[in-house]
Amino acid sequence: MSSVEPGQVRVFAQYDADLTLEADVVVVGSGPTGAVVAKELTDAGKSVVLVEEGPPFVPSEYEFDGGLSMARTMREGGLRTTSGTIMPTMQAVALGGGSLVNSAICNRAPAFVLDRWCSDFELEHTTRADLDPHYEAVAKFLGIAVTPENVLGRRNLLFRDGCDALGYHSEPMLRNVRGCRGSGECFTGCRSRAKQSMDISYIPAALRGGARLLTSVRIERVLSAGWRATGVAGRVVKPFTGRPSHQVRIHAKLVVLAAGCTATPVLLQKSGNLANRSGQVGENLQFHPGVAIMGIFPDLVNPRFGATQGYQSCHFLREGFKLETLWAPPAITAVRLPGSGMALKNRLADIPYSAIWDGIATCDRSLGRVRARRRSMDPILSWKLHSADVPILAQALWVLAQIFFAAGARTIVPGVHGIAPELHSLEEAEVLRDRPIRATDLVLAGNHVFCTTRMHGDARLGVVDEMGRCHDFENLYIADTGIFPQCPSVNPMWTGMALAHRSAQQIAQQI
Ligand SMILES: Cc1cc2nc3c(=O)[nH]c(=O)nc-3n(C[C@H](O)[C@H](O)[C@H](O)COP(=O)(O)OP(=O)(O)OC[C@H]3O[C@@H](n4cnc5c(N)ncnc54)[C@H](O)[C@@H]3O)c2cc1C
Ligand code: SF4
Repeated sequence: MSSVEPGQVRVFAQYDADLTLEADVVVVGSGPTGAVVAKELTDAGKSVVLVEEGPPFVPSEYEFDGGLSMARTMREGGLRTTSGTIMPTMQAVALGGGSLVNSAICNRAPAFVLDRWCSDFELEHTTRADLDPHYEAVAKFLGIAVTPENVLGRRNLLFRDGCDALGYHSEPMLRNVRGCRGSGECFTGCRSRAKQSMDISYIPAALRGGARLLTSVRIERVLSAGWRATGVAGRVVKPFTGRPSHQVRIHAKLVVLAAGCTATPVLLQKSGNLANRSGQVGENLQFHPGVAIMGIFPDLVNPRFGATQGYQSCHFLREGFKLETLWAPPAITAVRLPGSGMALKNRLADIPYSAIWDGIATCDRSLGRVRARRRSMDPILSWKLHSADVPILAQALWVLAQIFFAAGARTIVPGVHGIAPELHSLEEAEVLRDRPIRATDLVLAGNHVFCTTRMHGDARLGVVDEMGRCHDFENLYIADTGIFPQCPSVNPMWTGMALAHRSAQQIAQQI
């Protein structure tokens, strides 16, 4: 089976020899951005090869246990961390990329953020009005809609009640979900196929349009001649072990990198430091770091039921943070809970009475970088939480504490070093407002990643232009969230897809 026909999918067991293909466009990475590009270009009549390192997953292969699931669907088993400020960060390795494991939260970047992108990064066509048609196109295709009341569950509704009592705006999440059952399993894969992850939405549409899909292929090099990309080369890799076997080469008129913000810079660096006349490839790494509080209520919350992340408050967006409800499998939650032995056991026994809410902060001053490892495609991630951004996270914790007590919590577990592991009243929680908190006191997590191949109107200061085209290579595009010039202040997926939708339109005109 040495050729791949239009509309065909190759999985690991089907590779029996080296493979060389030709296409108009090769897209590397099948996450939200790559999947949009692949579908839009096949709709435009282009021949497309979509390449994904991870395998496809079907519901019978999902692991309900959080740790096991991470080991199978996440890079470095889900244990990837930054150095500098130590923070866990997860990137999926699966057909559909992050959409397989994410909570399906869809937010448009606020107009004030996009205006700032335009003024600070010399962009001319990236206002909210410019992007709205692209957001709309994605929303229509995926059925992005408000989470219905009947699947919110008590832990989402308590958040709403707390916000209402304090006069903070809040709203049910918009999500790319059809027919949610409120099972709270988005992180380990939606068994009822309600979540419109890319593997059941954009990618099948691209295949129907004639795209060819290679799964379990890791691209290791972008091929080029002079200032033109000519294709990509890599190897078939065994799922879960990454053991390489057959060689794969795809020659194409145009290459789109959508391997994700931490992988695309590595690919460029390993390809002879390609598209890096600006010196910005792998620089400017930004996260959207989050802190979380667990609150324990006097009566049963039953947090297993409800949309994984069903409610949010954007009340404090201009002050730099967004608040959300959250649910994760108990094994994951347990790692973040303080205490050991009997104290930890008692806290775990409280889970049926608990809710977890988080705050994610726009930390524009906190920067890092992505560097290639010598014998691996995994990145070295260094990142430092800037001392000026710490008060934003501390403020988010204080507001979360207020919302918990306004909603009737009897205890909160703030998870901040140097502060009592449990606080039993708003008065006790004032320590979160009054005590200086240092970066090292916080337990952080950062799954929203940006800026490592940022767009900039000035070719000396950015890797791509605002259409995603590399300044140095007219037929090399980058589509993943690495092209964001800054944190979008809200969850990034929908903005990444809107930008990808726009890039695809330009690419379709170009070839
Ligand atoms: C647990 C979790 C929850 C999240 N929840 C939300 C949410 O609810 N809403 C939201 O807006 N955002 C959320 N995010 C973030 C969101 O999922 C990402 O921003 C989004 O997936 C980024 O899309 P992407 O296409 O840029 O990259 P990715 O989704 O990372 O896709 C990149 C793909 O490229 C593949 N790849 C990488 N290197 C290679 C290579 N060399 N060769 C071939 N293939 C390669 C990867 O395996 C991957 O499948 C969450 C993220 C995580 C981890
Ligand atoms: S909450 Fe459950 S049913 Fe709803 S989208 Fe997530 S995994 Fe699917």
